[in-house]
Amino acid sequence: MDDCLFCKIIKGDIPSNKIYEDEDTYAFFDIHPQTRVHALVVSKHHIPDLGYNAELSDHELAACLRACAAVATQLGLAQGGYRVVNNCGKDACQTVQHLHFHILGGQQMAERMA
Ligand code: 5GP
Ligand code: ZN
Repeated sequence: MDDCLFCKIIKGDIPSNKIYEDEDTYAFFDIHPQTRVHALVVSKHHIPDLGYNAELSDHELAACLRACAAVATQLGLAQGGYRVVNNCGKDACQTVQHLHFHILGGQQMAERMA
């Protein structure tokens, strides 16, 4: 998608602090961290949100979650734990319409999600 921010980041047209990359996913640090460690894992295959998951292969979809775990391990979060968040649509306040997962950690989280 030519006008998609995360597609531009994946292509390298917009700079990012890359953490991890494989055939299906790309991960980088969020520009406005909400926790001490805040990374984003994005699918290289552009879909607007999780609701469009039928457009991804099972392999591509699984790759997103595997990348989340790999990134968390790479960032040293595996032992203490971390949260994986996907905002899907308006009520979830999704702001970038390209499937992505937030990896949040490096600190004790609130017990319940708001
Ligand atoms: P959403 O609200 O759609 O779930 O998450 C989008 C995330 O992308 C936000 O946490 C926001 O801070 C992050 N973000 C927006 N623009 C950029 C950017 O240009 N670079 C990086 N690294 N993160 C961005
Ligand atoms: Zn995109």
